[in-house]
Amino acid sequence: MTIPISETETFSTDRRTQESTPLYFNNNNTSGLTTNVSYHYNAEVSQYHYGSLHPMKPFRLMLTDHLVISYKLFEKMDLYTPRRATRSEMTQFHSEDYIDFLQTITPEKTAKLAEQTLAQFNIGDDCPVFDGMYDYSAIYTGASLDASRKLISGMSDIAINWSGGLHHAKKFEPSGFCYVNDIVLSIMNLLRIHPRVMYIDIDLHHGDGVQEAFYTTDRVMTVSFHKYNGEFFPGTGSVDEIGLAKGRNYAVNVPLRDGIDDESYIRLFKSIMEPLITKFQPTCIVQQCGADSLGYDRLGCFNLNIRAHGECVKFIKTFGIPMLVVGGGGYTPRNVSRLWCYETSVLNDVTLDPKIPNFLPTYDWFGPDYSLHPQLEGRIDNKNSKKYLESVRHEILEQVRYLNHAPSVQMYEIPPDLTGLTDEEEDAIKELNEENEREKKIMKDESKTGEFMT
Ligand SMILES: [Zn+2]
Repeated sequence: MTIPISETETFSTDRRTQESTPLYFNNNNTSGLTTNVSYHYNAEVSQYHYGSLHPMKPFRLMLTDHLVISYKLFEKMDLYTPRRATRSEMTQFHSEDYIDFLQTITPEKTAKLAEQTLAQFNIGDDCPVFDGMYDYSAIYTGASLDASRKLISGMSDIAINWSGGLHHAKKFEPSGFCYVNDIVLSIMNLLRIHPRVMYIDIDLHHGDGVQEAFYTTDRVMTVSFHKYNGEFFPGTGSVDEIGLAKGRNYAVNVPLRDGIDDESYIRLFKSIMEPLITKFQPTCIVQQCGADSLGYDRLGCFNLNIRAHGECVKFIKTFGIPMLVVGGGGYTPRNVSRLWCYETSVLNDVTLDPKIPNFLPTYDWFGPDYSLHPQLEGRIDNKNSKKYLESVRHEILEQVRYLNHAPSVQMYEIPPDLTGLTDEEEDAIKELNEENEREKKIMKDESKTGEFMT
């Protein structure tokens, strides 16, 4: 790739040159098709705080947004500030009890609660009770649902929500820093019109919450690439977990060892995803782009560079299938934001100047290199031998052979309706309907009176 920008200091400090230097270049689009990309971000989400020692830092979303805006990527996309998800939207998947708990619990009340209640709702170090936890969940979930609605209406071909992707949350409880499973809710929404949805997860951790929710259906294929040794969080994701009943063979797991590098990850990813997409023929794809699979992640153990992670997103985009793209894990904020900004550029078919724009308000975070592509490989030994990766690939390709070609859909399988209406809107509609009913009744009564009178 050639980037027609001078790398010399002379140019970067020359103001006139800098003002006329574009921050991105459109890639050659040979297909002649235009892709509508939308970006769903409610800035309030970055203001919440899990606690000072907790590795999940929602302000990484603000850093990401600053980068996206500084690179002027807003010129390429439709921008939306989504509303919060409503309680009734969240209970389409989560239990009423659990959402009640999330809505009413506060850090002050936690101290007075019985241990048993805290244990019942899996509250602890990983998933603490923090101020505004329910609002935080409603904001990132609202953004994923908004993105899914734009895909359903056909207004977007690709819809991005970096604040979503909380793949561990379960029906009855939070898990691994995730409270509400925005991915499951979005897929349920997409299934209203899409016969087959494929879920692809390249977070460091197994996408257990999403796999579990769709384990027995052939309408959602879940594919997760992750570190696995039976103990590493969440403990699931072995290659033998393939789905159950109708869903048998529709859950795919790619367990990896520490230290996987760019080349082997990309090769494995493409050689597995290509036959899966060809066979399953999804009509929509949800891709979870957890950034903890990058090298030098605070909780990570892989060796991936930003370009390699982005190559997976680029590859899936080439299939031209409508796509919801969400974030996920990622615990070194400066690299999380670099990655997601880079992936935003990939999805918009543009090439960014690798030098981070120096007018960025959070520029200091990106030193000392101030580059979009810091070197992230080599910290950990690669424990994935060629032989091991080949055996995993072989086992998965065998599983693919047993897949029914693009299973058909029975309409009765369509899940409960998830509308885009808020409670207030629904109330207003209800009121309007009741008013219409009353009017009709009055008219009927009057006509009866009239009849009687004549
Ligand atoms: Zn993760």
